[in-house]
Formats: sequence, C-alpha cells, structure tokens
Amino acid sequence: MTEEERLAKNNRIREQGKLTREKRKSQVCRVYRVKIDISHLNEAQQTHLKMLFVEAKWLYNDILTFSHDHYINDYDTTTHTVQGLDKDKQPVTHELEYLASQMKQSVIQGIKHSLKSLAALKKHNHTVGNLRYKSDYVSINLQQHRVTYRFYDKNHIGLQGFKERIRIKGANQFWNIPGIELANAKLLNLPDGYYLAVTTYQNKGGEKKKYKSEIGIDMGIKTSITTSEGKKYKVLIEESERIKKCQRLIARRKKGSSNRYKARKLLHRAYQKLTSCKKDVANKIVHELLEHERVYMQDENISGWHKGLFGRTVQHSVLGLVKAKLINNERVTVLSSREPTTKYCPCCGKLKKDITLADRVYECPCGYREDRDIHAARNMILLSKKHTCGTQGINAFGEDVRQHELQDLCRSLIELGSPRFYKRG
Ligand SMILES: [Zn+2]
Repeated sequence: MTEEERLAKNNRIREQGKLTREKRKSQVCRVYRVKIDISHLNEAQQTHLKMLFVEAKWLYNDILTFSHDHYINDYDTTTHTVQGLDKDKQPVTHELEYLASQMKQSVIQGIKHSLKSLAALKKHNHTVGNLRYKSDYVSINLQQHRVTYRFYDKNHIGLQGFKERIRIKGANQFWNIPGIELANAKLLNLPDGYYLAVTTYQNKGGEKKKYKSEIGIDMGIKTSITTSEGKKYKVLIEESERIKKCQRLIARRKKGSSNRYKARKLLHRAYQKLTSCKKDVANKIVHELLEHERVYMQDENISGWHKGLFGRTVQHSVLGLVKAKLINNERVTVLSSREPTTKYCPCCGKLKKDITLADRVYECPCGYREDRDIHAARNMILLSKKHTCGTQGINAFGEDVRQHELQDLCRSLIELGSPRFYKRG
C-alpha cells in the first residue's frame, strides 16, 4: 500500500465513522446474550474455543510485561510467540496458534482502555495501582460484525479463525426486530459455558409510552426498597444450599489437587446462578419503578454498609444493582445523601433530630405519624421540589453541602465505574 492509498483509506474510515455516529443518535443500544452450543462441536473445535481464552491470557500478560519498560504502542501485535512463566515460575515461550489477528488487537485495545481509565481516576485524586497479571481471561472483544464474527442465520455464527459454523441458542431475542444493526460482540467464557454478548442498535420507538406519575423510593437496610406508594420490595437473596455444599467440598480437598480445582469450578457455577437470580430480581424491580414518569431516590452509601454492621445482609442484596441501573436513567432524580429525608416532617416542616435506626415509625410532636420508610420515600419527592441540590451548594435547610457533594460524586464514580481498577491497600 502506498502512502497515498493509506491516507485515502484512513479518510474513508473517518468519514464512515462520522456517518455512523450521526446515525447512532436516533438509535438505542441493547446488548443481547446468546449461548454457544458446544454439544455439536468436535473435540478439536472445543479445544480451539478453550485455547482462545488461554492464548488471550498469555498475550495480555506478555503485553503487560512489555509495557513496564516500553511504550505500549510499540508492541508488535503480529507476533506469534509470547513469553510467560509456567506454574513453577520458569520462563517459557508460548505459541499463539488460535488467536485471530483482530482478537489480538482487541486484547491490546483493552489494556489501553484500562490504562486510560486508571489515568482518569488518578487525575481525580484516587490512589491507583498497576494493572495486574491475569490468571483467567474471560471476555474477548470481537470488534467487527462480518469480520471477527458473523451471524449466518438465527442458529449459526462464525468466528474468525473457525472454519465451521457454530450453533448458538437464544438469537430469537432480537432476530425479528426490524432495522436492527449488529455492532461489536464479546465472546465470554463463563462458569456455565461460552456466550456471545452482541451489541445491537435499533431505532427508538416512535410512540410515547404512557407513564404513571412520580414515585419516591427509600433504600433501607432491613426492609430493603420502599416506595412512596407504600409498596415494599424484598431485595435479599438467600445463598443457596449448593454454595455452602461446594464450599465444604473445597475445604475437604487437598490444596493444588485437580479435585479441588473441579470443586472450585462447581462453586463458580453456583455463584453464577446466584448472580443471575440477582440480576433477574433487579431487572424486575427497575422495570416496575420506571413505569413512573419521574423516580426520586437518595444517593446512599451502599458500599459503606458493606463494611459496617450489616455487611452480611447487604452482600446478598440486589440494592446495589438496582441503584446502578436507576442512576443511569434520565428519568431518575438523585438527591444528595445530606438531604434530611428521614428527619423532615412534611406537616409542620420541622426537623426531628433524635431519630435513630431503631425507630421504625416516624412521629412528630405536631401529630403526624407514618411508617419510617414510606415517610422517607415521600419526602424524596417533596424535598427534591423544594430546591435542587448541587446548584447552590446549600441544602433545603441552609446547610452547606458542597464538600459532601464532591465526596458523593467521587464515591459514586468508584461504585459505578465500569473500568476495572485496582485500589492499593
Ligand atoms: Zn410535624
């Protein structure tokens, strides 16, 4: 390719990118997950699938080593051999046989992306450490539909480097949506099998949905989520018997043995089931809440609860998931955690200072009486209308909250931040 051709190609790509970005504005992005059916794959193909993740891990670790004393853009992605350590920490050379070229590029892109997010966090005065070596690589980004992966039909996909078609299940989730476009996908290696998470773009629905009016929600520790309409959602999910059984099993197996490894795999599967249950419950709650035109909630410190007295309970609650899903929605108003939603009396407007966590009922000297959580949820709506926090830095009761606002912001950044980062200490 001559220099002129190269420039022309770059130009073409840039123009195409502009067009796509313009188009995406009128579209909505959804990710669907389909399962890869390995029962129809022969042994060689199954090895191929497995080795993709092993090789991606080797490559990732090699790039990480390289980045310690080189500029990461200098890494040669066309390489076929990488250096690594075996289980006795002796240096070995691995051959990359299966990993296709675009997959290699996506590994290096992933590292660059992580470094970028680390740098951004550092800029916001967070203490950040280094990227760590991986012992498991679970997600390979397939950047382009029709190049790294393609859908032949509803039940078959192709992967770069695979000669045969691969059977999948679950594409009917999106197959019949008119005007749907497929963007990138992620090949996932989860405890219960291989999945393909496909990013899709579809046109925004034309007709406007009819919403119910507004709702306030209070996230409690004991009674979980309470709405201003008086509905309570249970957000605790019991750890299954199976998890406990697996943990006992692991404890009985010898360290480093293959039986222990197998038992650990079983445990991972059990945990994944728990995660799926949590996601399901969270999705249902969020869906129900978002039937309302406006949702008011308070930015509460869930990660703080983890450390405190209620750690065990919060660990298996879906509260964090629900919050994360809500906070990104444009129809949700988040109040600062300094707004006195529990203390404020909607009747006389006074603040009741001496209310503790043990008081389940709010009682005001003026005669007003209400269940504590419902009371708080209703106050969310009231207080958010009284004024908007953050613009003036003073809450509804004249307290300066600017300092807290900043802390809240940082905290929610950490809680919600999708970039994976490692905190030192
Ligand atoms: Zn009162």
